[in-house]
Amino acid sequence: GLADKLQQTFKKLRGRGKLTEADVNEAMREVRMALLEADVNFKVVKEFIAKIKERAIGQEVMGSLTPVQHVIKIVNDELTELMGGTQSRIAIASRPPTIVMMVGLQGAGKTTTVAKLANLLVKKQSKRPLLVAADIYRPAAIKQLQVLGEQLDVPVYAAEPGTKPVDIAKQALEYALAHTRDMVLIDTAGRLHINEELMQELKDIKREVKPHEILLVVDAMTGQDAVTVAESFNNELGVDGVILTKLDGDARGGAALSVRAVTGRPIKFVGMGEKLDALETFHPDRMASRILGMGDVLSLIEKAQSAIDLEQAQAMEKKLRKEEFTLDDFLEQLQQVRKLGSFEQILSMLPGMGNLKKLQDIEFDEKELVHVEAIIRSMTKKERRSPDIINGSRRKRIALGSGTRVQDVNRLLKQFTEARKMMKRFQEMQKGAKKGLGFK
Ligand code: GDP
Ligand code: MG
Repeated sequence: GLADKLQQTFKKLRGRGKLTEADVNEAMREVRMALLEADVNFKVVKEFIAKIKERAIGQEVMGSLTPVQHVIKIVNDELTELMGGTQSRIAIASRPPTIVMMVGLQGAGKTTTVAKLANLLVKKQSKRPLLVAADIYRPAAIKQLQVLGEQLDVPVYAAEPGTKPVDIAKQALEYALAHTRDMVLIDTAGRLHINEELMQELKDIKREVKPHEILLVVDAMTGQDAVTVAESFNNELGVDGVILTKLDGDARGGAALSVRAVTGRPIKFVGMGEKLDALETFHPDRMASRILGMGDVLSLIEKAQSAIDLEQAQAMEKKLRKEEFTLDDFLEQLQQVRKLGSFEQILSMLPGMGNLKKLQDIEFDEKELVHVEAIIRSMTKKERRSPDIINGSRRKRIALGSGTRVQDVNRLLKQFTEARKMMKRFQEMQKGAKKGLGFK
């Protein structure tokens, strides 16, 4: 895949002390090949390479980086930029309901994605969505949405047979207002190909219900076709964002890399599987790291350098080495992490942690952080230093003292152990990376 190709290219460079213009040119030739093989749009590749060369050649190398690291950092930055820089969110209406219209070709994953999005909105944002079955051409489509709605325990609005999609959408809005549903997710019909009839229907709905977000669903596995489809939909209808589905089956990543550059519209979510919890917010920086296949080590180091003072980091490293990393340190780390971003974000930057699936098991949210703090504060000094002594009765006492449940204490202790393992691993990787990248 693209990741392997790029890694090979960088590995070749790693052996050398200083980068010449010829080195950069050679590396960029290989990067170009790798991108084209990954089915990235030709024009996008051309501009991308030009930009990197311009930044890489004849520029002052950042103080703490070797020339090769410098190039990797530039490629990483530019990949992130190419996919949209910072992550995008759904615009929430100041007065509910927020109306989201899901559009796209048949089979792209609209219906599934409507349900996945509802699931995300319920679980992460405590929203009260209403699903709207506006795909009237296949009777099975309405049933499909109803089944999904039932699984999620989210209501589905379906109209009398013969009702036009635009009227279904309007009726659904009234229903949402009457039943205080704050998000209306409209599942529209697709076609195998873009045609006038489809576009007219979508334009009618857009004009009448004025959605806050039109989200275009495209199938990542179709590569360049996905990008072409996105371009047409954006030109004809106008879309606010793209949802890239079936990324779990997309080995090449061409669509993910080109959609934003070609359409100017951001990828907001990605579908990572058929299940209803397999929709994730799209993070261009993580995707870039995943493509580079090395974990975003450099940006982690960079971020860490600015947020954590060096002395503290060194002290921490020493503790890690001596395996003296305690729950007090853990708490301190968590507070630092808050400064840096979410715990999940930090983990995703660690090498080998790019695997998004794994991350879901270790997710932390802000509320939980407050719990964590309370729990650690309810421990004695000795317990914080040697968590191994925290037996059943101590756990009970700690839960009581912190106003949490024993299972919360258990989970924290487990997370602590995980974090300790992970940090150790990171430390080792960092040492490896330093060696590999020519640090002495
Ligand atoms: P629609 O015609 O656009 O409404 O597409 P559907 O929602 O009916 O989805 C078409 C097929 O794609 C279904 O079999 C889905 O399970 C599958 N699908 C949708 N999203 C994903 C995804 O992110 N990953 C995988 N592997 N399959 C998906
Ligand atoms: Mg459908």
